[in-house]
Amino acid sequence: MTDKQQGSSTTIVHPAYESPDGFSAFPTAIHHASTVLFKDVEAMRARSWLNKSTYTYGLHGTPTSFQLEGEIAQIEGGNHCVLAPSGLAAISLVNMAFLEAGDDVLVPDNAYGPNKEQGAWLQRSFGISVRFYDPMIGSGIADLILPNTKLIWTEAPGSVSMEVADVPAICAAAHSKGVLVALDNTWSAGLAFKPFEHGVDISMQALTKYQSGGSDVLMGAVITKDVELNNRLLMAHMRLGLGVGMDDVYLVLRGLQSMKLRFDAHDAAARKLATWLKSRPEIAKVLHPAWEDCPGHEVWKRDFTGAGGLFSVLFDEKYSEAQTDQFVNQLKLFKIGFSWGGSHSLCVPYRIETMRQSWSDKGILVRFNIGLEDVEDLIADIEQSLNSL
Ligand SMILES: *Cc1c(COP(=O)(O)O)cnc(C)c1O
Repeated sequence: MTDKQQGSSTTIVHPAYESPDGFSAFPTAIHHASTVLFKDVEAMRARSWLNKSTYTYGLHGTPTSFQLEGEIAQIEGGNHCVLAPSGLAAISLVNMAFLEAGDDVLVPDNAYGPNKEQGAWLQRSFGISVRFYDPMIGSGIADLILPNTKLIWTEAPGSVSMEVADVPAICAAAHSKGVLVALDNTWSAGLAFKPFEHGVDISMQALTKYQSGGSDVLMGAVITKDVELNNRLLMAHMRLGLGVGMDDVYLVLRGLQSMKLRFDAHDAAARKLATWLKSRPEIAKVLHPAWEDCPGHEVWKRDFTGAGGLFSVLFDEKYSEAQTDQFVNQLKLFKIGFSWGGSHSLCVPYRIETMRQSWSDKGILVRFNIGLEDVEDLIADIEQSLNSL
């Protein structure tokens, strides 16, 4: 067909574009698609959501998202990865893939808040029983496992109160009763804790944090070693329609290249700051897993190779909430906001006693995310604000 015979709309829809042959460069190309083309009807009929060597529809992935899934699986030490549009969507994906009405799930009492909130919703509206357990329970979890318990969530450390759970002990108890263990591994970025070496079945990441590193993308991932577990995730992913935008995927691919360097820099700065805070009379406890104040410190030493930039402190109980709020408000470099893993330092006060079934410490909890600023400037900022109390 010549251009003369072809209508202009046809020409616009069929530009003379071919991917450049012989062009080689480092970045993964950004492949956008809703429609994915099949070469013939037989190929269309043979499509499968479970087979990642074929493409079915943009919602279920393009070469760009498959590339990121491969890289995340590798970092985590798994074989398979499924992306989701946020970390919380990745939590939902795990719950939808592995739970049904009548099942029971155990969630640690220090879990990421929206994970607990989703659990309460599953119980209220979906006929699933959800029980919250003491994160320091270890092998004692065996006593909580019921015949209908299907899944145990873990999170080590909890991202506000920082207790480090004994994940291998929980996994051993769970597996002896045929129960799956999922880990929210966001704190370690998959760098400082290798979930599958410690018995975890399903690892979940908020790629929003260190993997992106830019405070500008929301994305999540669920990583597994076992193909049957991955197939269940893929079917739930297909049914839920949890697609991701390929421009966002590209940003995470770009962020990943510097993730280890950034993570180590956050880690070193956070430990300097925690050391300094420990010397201050205003601070009763430094809840950083590398400090003995932190429950599970011994487990962290045994199982982890690093810590990243997130930790909390408990103020001496003589300081009121009004005073610790003033402390946070008077910080200049530290901004007030949720999330972490970006370049900017953040600080958030928590009413921890309202978040937990039981909590005995009296001092007010304040969480720091240490960014990539000069650590001396961060210390000076905290110092000026503490001195004003
Ligand atoms: C941020 C976070 C999530 C959720 O990630 P979003 O992408 O913000 O939905 C889940 N778990 C932990 C521990 C997190 O810090």
